[in-house]
Amino acid sequence: MRAPRPAVTNPLYRRLRSLVGDREHWVMTSNVDALFARNGFAPDRVFTPQGDYGHLPCTVPCVQETWAARPFLDRVLAAYDRETGRVTDPSALPVCPNCGADLFPNVRVGPEFVDAAHMPAGKRLSHWLGEAPGAAHLLVLEIGAGCNTPGVIRWPMENVVRHTPGARLVRVNPDHPEVPADLRNRALAVPFGADLLLDALAG
Ligand SMILES: [Zn+2]
Repeated sequence: MRAPRPAVTNPLYRRLRSLVGDREHWVMTSNVDALFARNGFAPDRVFTPQGDYGHLPCTVPCVQETWAARPFLDRVLAAYDRETGRVTDPSALPVCPNCGADLFPNVRVGPEFVDAAHMPAGKRLSHWLGEAPGAAHLLVLEIGAGCNTPGVIRWPMENVVRHTPGARLVRVNPDHPEVPADLRNRALAVPFGADLLLDALAG
């Protein structure tokens, strides 16, 4: 028996996509659940510097290649016994097609993380930020990027705004909405959750 696939439709992401409309846009996210791409954002315009669950690299890693997770998961789920919580056939566990070591989702938990899977999107985003006409109209809408790993989203986005004349930052965060003093005239702190923001914009 196969476990049902998790629900992928998320109303908040759908509303955000609808709000963006036809405007030129990119997504940079520390989320690893692919919910942006699953809810209407173009996958080739989503940069996930922390990786994603959808791809499996070798845990060594022996190569800088990653494999789509779904076929491996289907195989292991087919051998999964819900009663005992065990996998009945150890050969169904995901192993590297190249060297036979374990595979594990490509999320940034240690030095074995395979950057190569995600850096092309990061380069395309950098290029877009540098080349996009009308960069002075750039709006960075930062949602829920707290202070646990500020070097991933929070600080880079502050720097993008800092170095793009005329750009603006809207920081949506119920716990840490504060914005840097030097961006004060170009940054807005929104001290509540994205759902309330979207409600207000819709109203
Ligand atoms: Zn390997």
